Amino acid sequence: MAKGAGSDSARRWREKYLGLIEDHEKLKRSSEEDLDNYRRGLVMVSLLAEGQSSTVDTPLKALREALKPGASGMNKTMDELERAVQRFESQNSAQAEVLLGQLNDVASKLLLCPLPRPLLKRIKQVRKQASSELESWSGYTTQLQNWIQIVGEVATLEGYDEPKSKWWHRWFKPNNEEFQDDNEVTLQDDEQSDEQEPGFSHIAQEVSDTLINLLSQLVIPDRLAGSATSLQTRLGKGLNWYELVPLLEDTAEFLIDCLGSGQQEFERFLHNLDQRLQAIQVLVTDATNGQAEREKARQDLDSLVREQIADIRSVVTGSEDLGDLGSSVREHLTLIVRAMEKYQEDETKREQRLAEKLEMLQARLNEMEQEASQARQIIEEHKRRATHDGLTGLPNRDAYQQRLEEELTRKSRYGGSLTLVVADVDHFKRINDNYGHLAGDKVLQLLAKAMRKSIRDVDFIGRYGGEEFVMLMPETNAEEALAAMEKLRSKVENSPFNFRKERVPITMSFGVSEFHPLEDGETVFERADKALYQAKAEGRNRCIIG
Ligand code: GH3
Ligand code: MG
Ligand code: MG
Repeated sequence: MAKGAGSDSARRWREKYLGLIEDHEKLKRSSEEDLDNYRRGLVMVSLLAEGQSSTVDTPLKALREALKPGASGMNKTMDELERAVQRFESQNSAQAEVLLGQLNDVASKLLLCPLPRPLLKRIKQVRKQASSELESWSGYTTQLQNWIQIVGEVATLEGYDEPKSKWWHRWFKPNNEEFQDDNEVTLQDDEQSDEQEPGFSHIAQEVSDTLINLLSQLVIPDRLAGSATSLQTRLGKGLNWYELVPLLEDTAEFLIDCLGSGQQEFERFLHNLDQRLQAIQVLVTDATNGQAEREKARQDLDSLVREQIADIRSVVTGSEDLGDLGSSVREHLTLIVRAMEKYQEDETKREQRLAEKLEMLQARLNEMEQEASQARQIIEEHKRRATHDGLTGLPNRDAYQQRLEEELTRKSRYGGSLTLVVADVDHFKRINDNYGHLAGDKVLQLLAKAMRKSIRDVDFIGRYGGEEFVMLMPETNAEEALAAMEKLRSKVENSPFNFRKERVPITMSFGVSEFHPLEDGETVFERADKALYQAKAEGRNRCIIG
């Protein structure tokens, strides 16, 4: 029983053992299968992952080698791959960040452009999605596709290269909200905004008005009259955006030509003068020749008459036949009479020619005189414009600089004192604000006149800018200048400036400064200017020495 039981147990153990061996075999087979599948899977994944970066490609290749049956070195390859993947990841995110920055940049620039509203919206939308999309490869593709679409739309915008199109038209709009880089900007309807903001056409109109105005104020020499008319015609026709730059360039060239023409006019005048003088010389020579011709004709007549008379004499003394004598004398007398008639005739013609030449001479001289006075006028006008202020007629800042140099040269050569004064109208802005700019202009004109009148002829006064004047007083020290300015100040204060019968109180402040030896204009001007500001600070309507 025990044996039977024992052999039973042994059989059971054996069966269990064999069962286990079978299970193990099965497990081994299936795990080998699994391993094989993993290997194949890994090879496929590694092939798929290849091509993104050389950093990863090499360890991937090594991994595939290590996965081949019987190969070894798997652990080492895995370590290398892990490091490569980490490097790749960090490179990747850095690149994504740079790309994101660049996309934002492009988007901001595009948003500044006057693009159609839906397109602007789309750009904002795509820009918003960029940061999340760039986290994955598929996101990269989506971003790229979106930007391709946007670029395509911008490039094929209607009227992109059409000069008068609305699209270009809007580039010229001043300060339109559409130009602000703000996500929250509310955009105006295209049609509406075009009507409300006249855009380029508005600017073009202003530009051409200004230029036409400028041209009308110029003294245009005859030589340039043709170019002036063609410029005016071009301006009058209205401008396209693409015509603006060349037109401005042409106008600038014309202005330079015109302003520089004082000199050119003068040269032209000299040239004409030379030609006229040559013409006169020819006429005078002709006249002299005429005179010589006349003298010769007279002498010829004289000798002919003498000859004929001598002949008659010899005939008279030698002839015995009265009939011969009579006919011979008649012949000679006829000759003399004819010669005299011819001389008379020629003389009349000569006189006529001479009179004509003298007339021409007179005409040339008259023309010359006229041109001379025109040229003089033009040159004087140009000189005056270059050195004087148009509103007050006072010398301008350039003229002040020139006079300053002259006074400083004179002072360094002969010594003596020199004082500089800077004068400024008090609260002039209020005058403009209360009575208008034209009234302000009038006040400046009256003040300029009053100031010019109240200083000596040898003193210089110029308009330094705006409502500021500068004076140079030779042979005058600071105290003397102060006394003169005090008088002027009080005169201005008490002047009856009226506007529409209302009294307008006007005062001025003065900064006075004397030149010390070797000081330059700038230093003394600065000192006088500081004194002027002190006068302002102390309540205005006063003169202070600085
Ligand atoms: P303050 O007493 O401090 O000098 O005050 P202000 O108002 O005179 O000085 P501010 O510099 O503030 O203003 C000067 C004004 O003069 C402003 C400017 O518009 C005006 N102005 C400058 N040139 C002219 C011009 O030619 N004509 C007119 N009408 N106004 C001018
Ligand atoms: Mg002022
Ligand atoms: Mg001022």
